[in-house]
Amino acid sequence: MNANLQMMKFGGTSVGDASCIRRSATIVAEAAKRNPVTAVVSAMSGVTNRLIDAAHQARRGDREAGKALAQALRTQHFEALDALLPESAQRQPVRDRIEFLLAEGARLYEGTALLQELTPRTLDAISSLGERLCAPLFAAALSTLGVKGIAIEATELIVTDAFHGGAEPIADATRSKSQARIVPLLQSGAVPVVTGFIGASVDGALTTLGRGGSDYSATILGAALDAGEIIIWTDVEGVLTADPRLVSEARTIPEISYREAAELAYFGAKVLHPKTLRPVLPAGIPVWIRNSFAPDKLGTKITPKGKSIGGGVKALTAIRDVALIAVGGPGIVGVTDVVGRTFSTTAALRAEVLLISQSSSQNDICFIVAKAHAQATLEALRKEFAQDLAHQVVDHITMDAKIAIVAVVGENMRGTPGVAGRTFHALGRDNVNIIAIAQGSSETNISFVVSDDAVKPGLLALHREFGLSSRQE
Ligand code: ASP
Ligand code: MG
Repeated sequence: MNANLQMMKFGGTSVGDASCIRRSATIVAEAAKRNPVTAVVSAMSGVTNRLIDAAHQARRGDREAGKALAQALRTQHFEALDALLPESAQRQPVRDRIEFLLAEGARLYEGTALLQELTPRTLDAISSLGERLCAPLFAAALSTLGVKGIAIEATELIVTDAFHGGAEPIADATRSKSQARIVPLLQSGAVPVVTGFIGASVDGALTTLGRGGSDYSATILGAALDAGEIIIWTDVEGVLTADPRLVSEARTIPEISYREAAELAYFGAKVLHPKTLRPVLPAGIPVWIRNSFAPDKLGTKITPKGKSIGGGVKALTAIRDVALIAVGGPGIVGVTDVVGRTFSTTAALRAEVLLISQSSSQNDICFIVAKAHAQATLEALRKEFAQDLAHQVVDHITMDAKIAIVAVVGENMRGTPGVAGRTFHALGRDNVNIIAIAQGSSETNISFVVSDDAVKPGLLALHREFGLSSRQE
């Protein structure tokens, strides 16, 4: 019924100021002439970080940080509003809404500073304010372009579990709520403008889907509304063969598979939130990554099967904000619960494990987590293995944060012999030392760990080896 629905998500930089919002709203308004459209918006760039920083200051007892931030956000959003809406009479309802949200924020900061306690639930309420402030601005921008934009908070649409800071959607409940709220608006010709990043638990508490979660919001809603396609508008021209800041000859890839995109998302291309593709897998909805600053460029289309470019390797990627944790010592050889206990510990922290390596000698298990989770993981493991450390069953639990993961990705690497050989030969030739290696049996990704300063030379060597700058169309 909604097969021609376009779900369009605009990230922080695409709504970074009034002119960006106008440019993005124009994209929506143009599309809305032809098809029903629903927009999902992030907070203006940087706002979420500032909200979270001030929350931590309040937790330390600072009673001014929240007030100062509210003032700065008022100015920022009012300025954008004034630039977007020419007539001051139209501004009033949006101003009122912004004031209402900032007053709510001020109360949350006050409470936090008073109690010097910041629960995950309160942090969600605070960090979601950026999206809630942005959606009314975006809807107002649409109204100046002759489109009826209606700001909607995703707490009305996306039902999640109660895991604050990284909630998971509940598909059936989300589907029925979203359809009931959005379909009548679309039928009336309006464009709903939904806050990204947030949802609500079954009992109505606001939750967030994790940092960068607005991409995930777009696909959750796209799937719930049976959209024909999802377009993630960002500030880069799609998925590239490598990070162009490190590899100047990197190219946009016209079409990649879900699997490849997921590999790249997990492996630090940072174009997509890692969970983004999950909701669209069953229905096979295509997801585009496009540049809102260059809407004439097609970007990258992510489809169930992708398109072969020959040769197997599609892209390279690197993740830098990570740490390597090792649990080991000769005493763990043959102790069969070490692996289980290690990863039960990371699971309890919901610390995602990005790479695992254990050799058959079983002397050492090493794995990679985001730097943000590293210290907590280390402490939790030292607690879990306290007895074993005391009795020297486990002789060390260590962390190294000066490393990065580099990965070679491509669906057609499967069954193509020689990719690993070429990878390591090219690295060896350029003197890049490898600390750990992992290749899953899916064979769509070979990942390895190098020291931080070897990332760039490693990427350059591989980009050249696999001819990535010339092979794209
Ligand atoms: N504003 C949120 C964040 O910065 C969500 C997003 O932008 O996707 O994490
Ligand atoms: Mg993002």
